[in-house]
Amino acid sequence: MSLPTASHVRQQFLDFFASKGHHIVPSAPIVVKDDPTLLFINSGMAPFKDYFLGNKPAPFKRIADTQKCLRVSGKHNDLEEVGYDTYHHTMFEMLGNWSFGDYFKKDAIAWAWELLTEVYKLPKDRLYVTYFEGDQGDGLGPDTETQELWRQYTSDDRILPGNKKDNFWEMGDTGPCGPCTEIHIDLRDEAEVAQKGGAELVNADHPQVVEIWNNVFMEFERRADKSLLKLPQQNVDTGMGFERLMMAVSGVKSNYDTDVFQPLIQFIAAEAGLQYHGTAPATVNDQPATENEKTDIAIRVIADHIRTISFTIADGQLPSNVKAGYVIRRILRRAVRYAFSSLNQKQPFLYKLVPVLADQMASIFPELKQQQQFVQRVIEEEEIAFLKTLENGLRRLETLEEGFRQNGNRIDGKTAFELSDTFGFPLDLTALIAREKGLTVDEEGFKKELDAQKNRSRNAQEAEQSDWTIVTESEEQPAFVGYDQEQAPARILRYRR
Ligand code: ATP
Ligand code: MG
Ligand code: MG
Ligand code: MG
Repeated sequence: MSLPTASHVRQQFLDFFASKGHHIVPSAPIVVKDDPTLLFINSGMAPFKDYFLGNKPAPFKRIADTQKCLRVSGKHNDLEEVGYDTYHHTMFEMLGNWSFGDYFKKDAIAWAWELLTEVYKLPKDRLYVTYFEGDQGDGLGPDTETQELWRQYTSDDRILPGNKKDNFWEMGDTGPCGPCTEIHIDLRDEAEVAQKGGAELVNADHPQVVEIWNNVFMEFERRADKSLLKLPQQNVDTGMGFERLMMAVSGVKSNYDTDVFQPLIQFIAAEAGLQYHGTAPATVNDQPATENEKTDIAIRVIADHIRTISFTIADGQLPSNVKAGYVIRRILRRAVRYAFSSLNQKQPFLYKLVPVLADQMASIFPELKQQQQFVQRVIEEEEIAFLKTLENGLRRLETLEEGFRQNGNRIDGKTAFELSDTFGFPLDLTALIAREKGLTVDEEGFKKELDAQKNRSRNAQEAEQSDWTIVTESEEQPAFVGYDQEQAPARILRYRR
């Protein structure tokens, strides 16, 4: 069976909304340089924030696009899920359609249904929709308007009430907000569906009953005193996970089994001389049960992380020791660790994947192809540097393992700090290795050691910053402020190690 191609399915979305009068715009860069509240774009609406806040007029009343998103820090952080589950990525594309003071619930719902059931031909009896159940504290009743609209398209047992967490969206403590309706799909086998309904699995972290699309109806503004004000102009903001949509239209049970990830996965498996079996632990917290499961997780992590690393670098954020740069370095090191430990790759490996990804994405995100060699070089340099110490660090952990077991299966803060300070293991990497070994990490102790070191260096007035120092995102440090294309390679040479 040949899989639907990513470019075709993406284009169908854009064509559909163009036919409904939407202006199609390109994705904004993933890296955010002018918003102190956000390191990376984490949803389709983020680049349009100013239109929703009324700071700028929207150039068009209807817009649609696919937006590169990262969920690796702050409010949305899905990093820990990646590789273990089959539908959360660090980087993903969010398809979206927007109305700025134009259409509202009725059209948004009608079009969402038409697109999914008539264009993509997803089976109606596998779709569930949700509506906001209301909230007493806010004096809001259930969103019966949305509920009634859905009744035209599907039966009551598929229209489910949802709580504030899942069905009421707010931009922040203040600002635009409103109820949302989510669309979920049940991809289980017939026999399983017959055995156990499906409605109770919605929003229950089931790997095959997944949320694909969220339609937010911004009708209120949250004031500083927490009250809600009805907005004179109502907006629609929707977000559909493209990789999940691909899973649904391809009739497979994992985002990784679609055309979005298969070229990368096949390349990784071939390079490593292994097979990808497509197995996944039942839940995120389960340990890999077999060797195949272990290598499958590693292959998924690498296929996922290379997208994040490559696109972030292409969009102007180099790996570094501060803020957004440190987030990327951490993700890169995490991928190196998986390649090293689970795929036996002792030499730089990740950088080889960049051309595969660049070719795959060239028609929609040409920025990677344009900077392919530069991106490859940055990644390879990072890999070389980290591989030098990784082996020693892992060996050190092994020699201490018996002690951890006797100490309540816990890696003490001092060791966690030594690993980060001497071996460049970000804390979450140590936590990941610990999780695989059935250990925990004393994070409090780690922070104490870190603070103590900061005091020492402050006292010693050390202005110089070593590359292996842990600097948290929140710390006020000068961040990398972008590079000039022409100067990019020179900058790399000046890169300090
Ligand atoms: P979930 O509950 O599955 O974590 P969410 O409710 O956090 O998703 P939204 O913020 O509503 O997601 O984003 C809109 C859509 O983006 C989701 O319906 C989903 O299809 C997709 N999406 C969200 N997070 C991810 C991710 N980490 N990887 C891939 N797709 C995602
Ligand atoms: Mg989420
Ligand atoms: Mg959700
Ligand atoms: Mg959601």
